[in-house]
Amino acid sequence: DDREDYSFSTEDSLSELAELAETAGALVVGRMIQKLPAPHPGTYLGSGKIDELKAVLAQTEADGIIADDELSNSQMSALQQLLDCKIMDRTMLILDIFASHARSAEGMLQVELAQLNYRMTRLTGKGISMSRLGGGIGTRGPGEKKLEVDRRVIRNRIALLNRELRELQSHRDTTRKMRSRNNCPVFAIVGYTNVGKSTLLNALTGADILAQDQLFATLDTTTRRYTYHISNNSREVLLTDTVGFIRKLPHHLIEAFKSTLRETEYADYIIHVVDASDPACSGSMEVVYSILEQLSIKGKKIITLFNKTDLISENVELRDAHAKRTLRISAKTGAGLDKIPEILEEMITDDYIAVTGIIPYSKLDILNEIRKNGRVTSEKYTEDGVELSAMVSPALAGVILE
Ligand code: GDP
Ligand code: MG
Repeated sequence: DDREDYSFSTEDSLSELAELAETAGALVVGRMIQKLPAPHPGTYLGSGKIDELKAVLAQTEADGIIADDELSNSQMSALQQLLDCKIMDRTMLILDIFASHARSAEGMLQVELAQLNYRMTRLTGKGISMSRLGGGIGTRGPGEKKLEVDRRVIRNRIALLNRELRELQSHRDTTRKMRSRNNCPVFAIVGYTNVGKSTLLNALTGADILAQDQLFATLDTTTRRYTYHISNNSREVLLTDTVGFIRKLPHHLIEAFKSTLRETEYADYIIHVVDASDPACSGSMEVVYSILEQLSIKGKKIITLFNKTDLISENVELRDAHAKRTLRISAKTGAGLDKIPEILEEMITDDYIAVTGIIPYSKLDILNEIRKNGRVTSEKYTEDGVELSAMVSPALAGVILE
């Protein structure tokens, strides 16, 4: 079914599930849709569909099935008993992919934590035994570590992971504070998975981030410096690539990844990349905005880049009511990328406020900062210091007025 829907059909959702399964290393040999108002509470599928599925399993020699919804404990064990094959759901699959793609220390801790929390909810009651799931997809811990199945051990591990995460996060906050003191504008690149975020960052900064036709090829956020030149000035900004969003993101993961995505909370502006060649792209945009809302990112100015326009006709109309500016680009061919600097510049200077004051000669580093990150409108050297009028970002104004 497709309860949480925005112009996204059951078919689309299954296609995405198939892509996810392939990303996890599985081979998809068949699909099945059941038309019911709601999943069967006990067995997920009705009895007719279960017989049909049994036949498909026998015919295709499939190792297991993946349900596109989160299965309850009892649905999972009922299906296990009826079908005698590996039973997975969308959440397990996504957790599995995250587990094999996590690279940073924090990412790995967060994935393991999400997996263990999910496991804890499955281990209560007389439900399915996790040890029956062994091997292959759905059982991977970060770094191919075997996941625990003992409840007491899991609880201790969760406590330890939480402690380690807190330590890492306090370190992260310090780095972030240092960064914001640099007065360098930060743009977070967000978007549905596979829209071309990493390709864009690579194209702009010459970074070497894994860009693949795979969901979640990049899991951790990456920040790169991007310098552009505009009317005799150069400007340095920070671009942060984030993990892609998807529909029906398991809430265990949203929780776990809030801190990774928190990078976007600290960003000054949002660059929303959209795959304009995807027929379901307007629904994907809604998903992105609803997740941004869950992360309580509101009120930040948004630039929407309609990417992959090399694949569509010029006549296709592309709109985004949430965005302050939109632009058609192709990160692959480079079309439209030359217009990005002026849009970023416009965002930054729109927020500028006028300041005037005297900067003492003992604080000339501030003057350099203003020359670099703001626009000096007049300066006069006096006995007390430099008498200055300038247009600067609100953050920099705070420093000057201190
Ligand atoms: P991300 O998940 O948003 O980071 O997406 P990636 O940057 O990994 O790109 C996903 C896929 O889309 C890759 O196969 C890219 O080569 C492809 N891609 C990215 N930008 C474009 C584009 O402008 N045009 C076309 N045709 N393909 C693109
Ligand atoms: Mg990426």
